Amino acid sequence: MSVFKKYLYTPGPVSVPPEVLLEMARPIIHHRTPEFSAALDSARERMRPLFGTRQEVLLLAASGSGAMEAAVTNLLAPGEAAIFVNGGKFGERWGKLLAAHGMTGHEVKVEWGRPVRPEQIQEALRSHPESRAVFMQASETSTCAIHPVADVAAVTRRGEALLVVDGITSVGVFEQKMDDWGVDAFLTGSQKALMLPPGLAMIALSERALQRTARNRTPRFYFDLNRELKAQRDEHTTAWTPAVSLIFGLNKSLELIHGETLPRVYERHRVMAEATRAAGMALGLKLIAPDSPAPGVTGLLVPDGIDSGKIVRMMRDELGVSVQGGQDQMKGRLVRIGHMGYLGPFDMLTAASALEIALARMGHRFTAGAGVAAVHERIARSV
Ligand SMILES: *Cc1c(COP(=O)(O)O)cnc(C)c1O
Repeated sequence: MSVFKKYLYTPGPVSVPPEVLLEMARPIIHHRTPEFSAALDSARERMRPLFGTRQEVLLLAASGSGAMEAAVTNLLAPGEAAIFVNGGKFGERWGKLLAAHGMTGHEVKVEWGRPVRPEQIQEALRSHPESRAVFMQASETSTCAIHPVADVAAVTRRGEALLVVDGITSVGVFEQKMDDWGVDAFLTGSQKALMLPPGLAMIALSERALQRTARNRTPRFYFDLNRELKAQRDEHTTAWTPAVSLIFGLNKSLELIHGETLPRVYERHRVMAEATRAAGMALGLKLIAPDSPAPGVTGLLVPDGIDSGKIVRMMRDELGVSVQGGQDQMKGRLVRIGHMGYLGPFDMLTAASALEIALARMGHRFTAGAGVAAVHERIARSV
């Protein structure tokens, strides 16, 4: 079959709405202008409800990992210790970041696909009372599982250790309550649920995190959050040349998000996730994260003897439908179907149909159309 129209269901980057693409196609302006300041202020303001915060949301020109690094270097000093939840590739990244900056990372290892238990954090804090922070993901995109941030925050709130949460694939997907939960640093990136190309990161700090970063002597330059806070809050500009077009795009995508209203955005993601899980199960696949599945990306384990990498390649190269496989221990075993970005429930019919075709070609047996029917059934129940 000729692959003419392409479909993007990767858990980042995602497809971008035409309105946002047009906004980003506007002629570039200089960033030290009232016009840019207005766009920056409005984008930062519109981000707040997605984080669930009244704190300042700072925009950085970086992919999401830039904000992760900023959290590490602004809140900790070399030689200090922290706890990090490693339940997948992104949790592992916290450990690598800490090590790269000469900090000690105490790992809380979580089986892939499982949520961390708050007692594990409590235990780790007891064993390593010198820990200055706890680093975790709200949604571990590599295993398609969510972690209970509110419950972990209930533990960290009681002590001195700050809670740093990577909200990439959570912010804009399901409700986040940074302030109410007591999260100290919360961050995300542009190329997931914010419906933008890669290149922008956002981070907000609690009052106690702001105090920590103000006193922190760790050398830093580009990702100096003290400097960014002063620039963005007080001077309505960024410390360095900002990603101007992406910030225009962010404004537009947040306008779309708030136009739809956040409760409906979250409901849409819930329906897409439930429909995708139903499709997987109807095709005889198992969920990698049955207890705490992420609403932004669904992980389906393929039957033994089938290589998920081949399925992913077949779907992309022969059907024009991009999904993602598994990494590390899940290489060859997992298909990850993202449902973030410019997608709605009906788009999951396409994903399910392509998955069926690839599975059938690989010799997996199931009732033809069962996955598509499961998606249809879930959509029909919500309209
Ligand atoms: C995508 C993603 C990141 C950021 O990765 P970048 O490639 O730097 O944007 C970090 N954490 C999670 C959970 C993600 O899904």
